[in-house]
Amino acid sequence: MTVSSGSIFMVVAPSGAGKSSLVNALLAQDPSIMLSISCTTRAPRPGEVDEQHYRFVTQDEFLVMRDNNALLEWAEVHGNFYGTPRDRIEEATRAGRDVLLEIDWQGARQIKKHFPDAIGIFILPPSIEALESRLKKRGQDAPQVITKRLLAAGSEMSHASECQYVIINQEFSVALTQLSQIISAARLRYPAQAARHAQLFSQLGISPTAN
Ligand code: GDP
Ligand code: ADP
Ligand code: 5GP
Repeated sequence: MTVSSGSIFMVVAPSGAGKSSLVNALLAQDPSIMLSISCTTRAPRPGEVDEQHYRFVTQDEFLVMRDNNALLEWAEVHGNFYGTPRDRIEEATRAGRDVLLEIDWQGARQIKKHFPDAIGIFILPPSIEALESRLKKRGQDAPQVITKRLLAAGSEMSHASECQYVIINQEFSVALTQLSQIISAARLRYPAQAARHAQLFSQLGISPTAN
């Protein structure tokens, strides 16, 4: 039997709720988590770096990857294609590493089909007004793009119940602590602990599989 101690975390949120800020702060605290770098047909925002924020591809390149089964999941979001490259995720899960995906609800559903134990974390804004002001304050999208994203927020949030965890990102430091606590709790689950401490479990005569 293959036992792996790594978990897959999916962070889902409407645009502007603060998921990238929270994820970046989490990874700064805990670099052992591997962040999945998505492919996207969206144009880079000012300051976004290829292969770091996204792998920016043309629509043709995206379709080739999709048709070659190189994407674990993909979806059209706000008029662009986004997808999770398969190779790094499979490599990381085989190596027992924790992996984090920032994806939309459609992608989260597809990942759950492949990996039923994947953990969904939905980030909510404290209000629609706060969401709007954060999107505007970020100042990286054109006004019509912001409007499109605000209009899509309700539909994205209607899928929050598909996630196991919900964080309301009002006070950033509180939300970050909560995100970190979810990761910590997942690492203490029986199968993860049994895989990580296989020798101890064996010495103590404890089953490596949870009931
Ligand atoms: P953000 O909402 O400000 O983070 O804007 P982005 O343009 O970075 O992302 C747009 C949407 O695409 C969000 O809902 C993301 O969760 C989603 N997204 C990003 N990467 C992926 C991916 O690899 N797969 C899927 N399915 N969705 C993704
Ligand atoms: P997303 O990745 O979900 O689209 P971002 O992480 O880019 O969202 O955050 C959107 C904007 O809101 C950014 O300018 C960010 O600095 C700001 N922001 C994030 N969390 C908070 C918070 N708790 N309070 C106030 N502003 C926040
Ligand atoms: P943005 O264009 O603002 O970077 O991202 C918009 C949305 O696309 C975000 O809500 C993000 O979650 C989603 N997204 C980013 N990458 C992926 C991906 O690989 N797959 C899916 N399904 N959604 C993604």
